[in-house]
Amino acid sequence: MNGNKPSEMNATLTTCPYCGTGCNFYLLSGSDGRLSGVEPAAKHIVSKGRLCMKGWNAHAFVHHPDRLSTPQLKRDGALQDCDWDTALATVHQRLQAIADRHGPDSLMFFSSAKVSNEENYLMMKLARAGFSTNNVDHCARLCHSSTVVGLAETLGSGAMTNTLDCFDHTDLVFVIGSNTTEQHPLIGGRILQALRHDTKLLVADSRKIRLAQHANIHLRHHNGSDVALINGMMRQILVDGLEDRDFIARRTENFDALRDSLEPFTPEYVAAITGLEPQQIIDATRLYAGADNAMIVFAMGITQHSHGVDNVRALSNLALMTGNLGRPGTGINPLRGQNNVQGACDMGALPNVYTGYQQVADPQARLKFSTAWGKELPETPGLMATHAIEAAAAGSVRGMLIMGENPMLSEPNQTLVRKALENLDFLAVIDIFPTETAQLADVVLPAACYAERDGTYTSTERRVQRGRQAVETPGDARADWRILCDLLQRCGIKANYESPAQIMDEITTLTPSYGGISYQRLEGGHGLQWPCPDADHPGTPILHQEQCTRGKGRFSPTRYRPPKELPDEKYPLLLNTGRTAVHWHTGTMTRRSHLLHREEPHAFAEVNPQDAGQLQICDRQLIRVSSRRGSIQLKARLTERVPAGQIFIPFHFAEGAANVLTNNALDPESGIPEFKVCAVRVEPC
Ligand code: SF4
Repeated sequence: MNGNKPSEMNATLTTCPYCGTGCNFYLLSGSDGRLSGVEPAAKHIVSKGRLCMKGWNAHAFVHHPDRLSTPQLKRDGALQDCDWDTALATVHQRLQAIADRHGPDSLMFFSSAKVSNEENYLMMKLARAGFSTNNVDHCARLCHSSTVVGLAETLGSGAMTNTLDCFDHTDLVFVIGSNTTEQHPLIGGRILQALRHDTKLLVADSRKIRLAQHANIHLRHHNGSDVALINGMMRQILVDGLEDRDFIARRTENFDALRDSLEPFTPEYVAAITGLEPQQIIDATRLYAGADNAMIVFAMGITQHSHGVDNVRALSNLALMTGNLGRPGTGINPLRGQNNVQGACDMGALPNVYTGYQQVADPQARLKFSTAWGKELPETPGLMATHAIEAAAAGSVRGMLIMGENPMLSEPNQTLVRKALENLDFLAVIDIFPTETAQLADVVLPAACYAERDGTYTSTERRVQRGRQAVETPGDARADWRILCDLLQRCGIKANYESPAQIMDEITTLTPSYGGISYQRLEGGHGLQWPCPDADHPGTPILHQEQCTRGKGRFSPTRYRPPKELPDEKYPLLLNTGRTAVHWHTGTMTRRSHLLHREEPHAFAEVNPQDAGQLQICDRQLIRVSSRRGSIQLKARLTERVPAGQIFIPFHFAEGAANVLTNNALDPESGIPEFKVCAVRVEPC
């Protein structure tokens, strides 16, 4: 065990179930088999004895009375308790009957960034080997699918290039589209700590986020204008001669095409698009490009756009142009949202790849997996989650198995999502709470939460770490991996694993980047960062050191495209959505943690006082927010944090659900929805 073991007995070291930072802590449990609290792991390499509010309260939802503890089957329109065999047989038979009648691609499997690597592996194996479809995806589609596409194209690897320790070795951090102190609080803390040692901070965000108060320059550019801003910065770098010519010549390709594409992006042209002053763009450029070592940090403010992949490409171009890649204190660093969203992608819970991003369309990769699993595998990439919702609404997807996700709250345009799920012939849900999605299911399978099962999770810095069982599951609930093994066996696929460790052993034989990872090695240290190709390899904190994963870094020119729906006369305000520091995603766990709930109990919308004055709205007044897709009511919170013309709504609250309003316009390459921009109208109630 790593870290300091607290004096309390029954202290189980595990990985935080919330964000992708990868903090470790001890779950404290008594002889009654119940959790009593959390204690940080003092020597853990990431959390170093600290936790954020969510981490400190990560035990609080585990024994909540709402936990699902018995399988349920819908009879006469209502979910009723049943035994496991009936529930599992029903799931298998109904999905198989749909596949037999309408073809395997009439099924869709939602895996989850909340469950372990081993469970994501089994889910994609179930879809591909068990039911012969590549229709498997998970919520990375909604947060970082643009990152995976954009960075894979330019660098060859869709993950954070550097490691969190690099914040101690950088001269400048450029944070764009990441409210880091609230979404990844311990990483936000590392950035603030770096500022004490003369590290400079450049922040680009339309909201006055906490980091902005400490920034050398804060750019409040319009939501959706990132490509123009970054292209403008690159053009200015060339004007000032601040590019790294040696790096460009040795390590990159396609530079001439990029340089030509930047010509229109003068400071004046960019200012007109972004709402900034031309001099701000010039100053920000000189700050970033003048640093010897600069790190780019981004999150969903960059990715959740109908041009999210272009945003990522542009940032990658910026890092390549200045040679900020492949050494400590540099790089392009997407902060992954959930604790295992990196792992769910690594495990191939995506429609086009197996584990380690091996393409399903590649005959060699297909042969490898088909030989290992003893089953012919489908060759056509499957449906993305967002497309599957549209397909269900249209009637071509007819059966779904959803594990640990809540699309009824997390997907855009909830009217469409409800129509899609209600239109299915059969819906099965594996979850720990009766979510809004579970309430629509034909069968609900009660699962173990993170504190009740073993597994591994891969954090945002590609660090594979152990999660450990501290207490038993409630009632008859079962670990997801056991549920999936049962379904695999019913499909005739061998899945008689005795433990998650055995599943990891299978994963490592099929996945070169995880080849040297084993439970035995993870037991003794602070996890291993992939690529870790063999049992003697120490792991790789920094990618692309001698060359990029794809060989040469490729400049990929981008052109500015505005968001799909901007404010107009009828809907005059821009809606921006995101998280709060206290809650997590659809609130399934944090809203059942009493201290977190106490801190932020109600849905709210941040409204700029100038707009509030014009609309005659007071602080805490109930307002109605409407878009072309629906209407919600919630309280106004008057604050200068949002600029005039914009409102911000967190998406955790079912009773004031931001995703009733959001636009299901998708990025054409990654399928990510444009959660960060749509047009709304606000009225007092
Ligand atoms: Fe958990 Fe993230 Fe908070 Fe760390 S920063 S304690 S991983 S929620």
